[in-house]
Amino acid sequence: MTEVSGDDPTAERIARNDAIFRAANERISGVAAEQEMQEGVPFLCECADPTCREIVVLALREYEEIRAESRRFFNIPGHERSDRPYQRVVARNDRYHVHEKLGRAGEVADELDPRVRA
Ligand SMILES: [Zn+2]
Repeated sequence: MTEVSGDDPTAERIARNDAIFRAANERISGVAAEQEMQEGVPFLCECADPTCREIVVLALREYEEIRAESRRFFNIPGHERSDRPYQRVVARNDRYHVHEKLGRAGEVADELDPRVRA
């Protein structure tokens, strides 16, 4: 058995789970852009609870703003509790909170970002 120092299976699991929701949201944003739907786009909550099926309605511009940073995800207010202590909330409003992955969870989120980074 090999030991990898600094490895955190929980952080990794959380980041991978969130990356699955992010991949689905990337497809939703693609469809919205094709249909020239700028406002009221129904995205999936990107919290760490794999059973969460909540919808977060965002303008395409709001989504793009969050997605510009590969460690940032959005969720229904309060849902960020499910992945504490691997994140911190960086922005909040009535509809959604934006959180940033920390430590190993942040690294995995970077690695799994489907967008090519400049
Ligand atoms: Zn959620």
